Amino acid sequence: MESREVIHSTVDVPGYHMTPDEFRQHGHELVEWIAQYYERVDQLPVLSQVALGDVRGQLPPSPPATGESFAAMMADVEKIILPGVTHWQSPNFFAFFPANNSGPSVLGELLAAGLGVQGMLWATSPACTELETHVLDWVAQMLDLPPTFYSTGSGGGVIQESASSAALCALLAARERATGLASNARGCDGRLVAYASTQAHSSIEKAVKIAGLGSENLRLIDVDEHYAMRPDLLTRRIEADRAAGLIPCFVAATVGTTSSNALDPLPAIGALCRRENVWLHVDAAMAGTAAICPEFRYIQEGLELADSYCFNPHKWMFTNFDCDCFYVAERKALIDALSILPEYLRNQATESGAVIDYRDWQVSLGRRFRSLKLWFVIRHYGVEGLRHHIRRHVQLAQDFARWVEASSDFEVAAPSPLNLVCFRHQAGDAFNQVLLERLNASGALYLSHTKLDNKFTLRMSIGQTHTEAHHVAQAWQHIQETAAQLVV
Ligand code: PLP
Repeated sequence: MESREVIHSTVDVPGYHMTPDEFRQHGHELVEWIAQYYERVDQLPVLSQVALGDVRGQLPPSPPATGESFAAMMADVEKIILPGVTHWQSPNFFAFFPANNSGPSVLGELLAAGLGVQGMLWATSPACTELETHVLDWVAQMLDLPPTFYSTGSGGGVIQESASSAALCALLAARERATGLASNARGCDGRLVAYASTQAHSSIEKAVKIAGLGSENLRLIDVDEHYAMRPDLLTRRIEADRAAGLIPCFVAATVGTTSSNALDPLPAIGALCRRENVWLHVDAAMAGTAAICPEFRYIQEGLELADSYCFNPHKWMFTNFDCDCFYVAERKALIDALSILPEYLRNQATESGAVIDYRDWQVSLGRRFRSLKLWFVIRHYGVEGLRHHIRRHVQLAQDFARWVEASSDFEVAAPSPLNLVCFRHQAGDAFNQVLLERLNASGALYLSHTKLDNKFTLRMSIGQTHTEAHHVAQAWQHIQETAAQLVV
């Protein structure tokens, strides 16, 4: 008999990997931990109370040489990490903007991580591309977006990681449309100009810098008494820039500004952009979700005049970060600006021209299977379920605004059309600042601030998944009592 040499492959050596059984066990433990976290999160101080360095001070200076148990990791999550977490999922979180999530979203995220696909090309995972295209068409229906934004029209939707990335992609497409792709080839020559209101999010300025227009070529247009962009001033500025030999190429209008939820007048801005052949991008990062409810759709009146639009389900649609829905009316303009096809990505499907390759719709090449979590959320809640919760949040904010108006000590500082109330104590900036610090240090709730007309203003932003009427009532009680203690 022929003797055979036994070859031991290194893959037979007991490995370091988590086995499927271990994964199953720890997965169950982790889901249980998260479920319990949701049950207790309202008892935890909303704003993390740790001092600078507290978290790092408890971590070993060097990584472990040999693997540790999952139990040891989770013990450190509880002991070291949790105290350093600001609880964005607390029902008492009223700062900045909501970043709400939900069970179906977290499970969709887990599934995306489990599948671990790279959806850069249709060919690298057809389901990743096709589900995204389909779900974004669903979302377009849910918001009643103009027909051009559907994938079946000239445009289509794509999930970006953030509204900032959406603004950058829109600006890059606008830049190339305005220069016939010459900026991609030779760079900007300093003549391209972009416009936004003084209340626009800082991501617009960032995009202008990254896209090479130069921040000096961003015109910040003044706002009216409701903090909405003034189209008359925009018109004059565009005319002046044209007269000076510059090339107006991009206007960013906001539906729901970060400071006060102001609504820029899209019909007037859109008509101007059409006349001037300037790209109009509409940033509805938080407020856009409201358009799921027919009664709030007025906020996007005029959107049919826009070239691109974005809103963030990762803010107010129960979908954990990151998930920004970005729509363009002419997908060709976006793809022309962002497409590069190196040899190693060539494939038959792409060459056929029949498929969407989402790498051409964003800055990075690689992309996650983000549509899974959005799909899970929409299927779990249904459109009616989502409407119910959005209406509830708006109602709670309107109640809060009425209490503030009825108070002799506080005033509402800006219109509150949806889920954000800007307000302040009558006692002035220093008082409001100390009031905010005291409230947040209490751990009972978390508010943030802005400046409106240069006055220190508190913001009550309502939109966390489990915020109920009693949380808002308690917050108002707490605000009044803390203010009363401060009055000398
Ligand atoms: N635009 C507006 C109006 C916002 O309020 C925000 C965040 O607060 C952003 C853009 C930035 O969002 P993202 O973090 O998705 O880039």
